[in-house]
Amino acid sequence: MPYIMPGMHRLPPLPYSYDALEPIIGEETLRIHHDKHHKSYVDGLNRAEMYLVEARKTNDLDYIKYWENELAFNGSGHILHSIYWTIMSPVGSGGQPRQRTVYHANQYFGSMDAMKEQFIEATEKVEGSGWGILTWQPTWGRMEILQCEKHQNLTQWSGIPILVCDVWEHAYYLDYQNKRSEYVNSWWQLINWNEVERRLAGAMNGQVPLIIEG
Ligand code: MN
Repeated sequence: MPYIMPGMHRLPPLPYSYDALEPIIGEETLRIHHDKHHKSYVDGLNRAEMYLVEARKTNDLDYIKYWENELAFNGSGHILHSIYWTIMSPVGSGGQPRQRTVYHANQYFGSMDAMKEQFIEATEKVEGSGWGILTWQPTWGRMEILQCEKHQNLTQWSGIPILVCDVWEHAYYLDYQNKRSEYVNSWWQLINWNEVERRLAGAMNGQVPLIIEG
């Protein structure tokens, strides 16, 4: 897989002309959406990454919350729009649902129709701005439909968690009360680096033997 240097994201070209999705999506919509909106996510993501390169050099992480939000907002915007362009095609050229899609939709949702119904309903009912998303959930080996409000809420969609630290109060309050910093710093000594390596390798192979239930 390619390694993208910080600050080096580029706006992918549309895989069809601006008027190719007419009459369902108009030329002007597509032009503004791709050239302005998507572009600003790419620029914002590059800016945030470059700021953080500097911040790590100078050990100045005072504005970390702001820049993490920028990473999430712009990173997710860039990723989701890149997917959105490619999962559409001119009317009549998209074909029928293929074998694997149908198999997994049947297995989990019961049928393609049930998947469609839930997807449309969930997408319609996203509160405010956001996305309807059909995901592959590698942890459980199945598809899922999720609503994504806005899209930043501090994730970059398509990322696979490698190392996680629970900072809900239930994770540390009895031991550290309100001293979350003490907890996180001490917690670092508990990390099982073999498991971190295994998860990273799995994620990179697309196999993701994530967790074992039961
Ligand atoms: Mn958009």
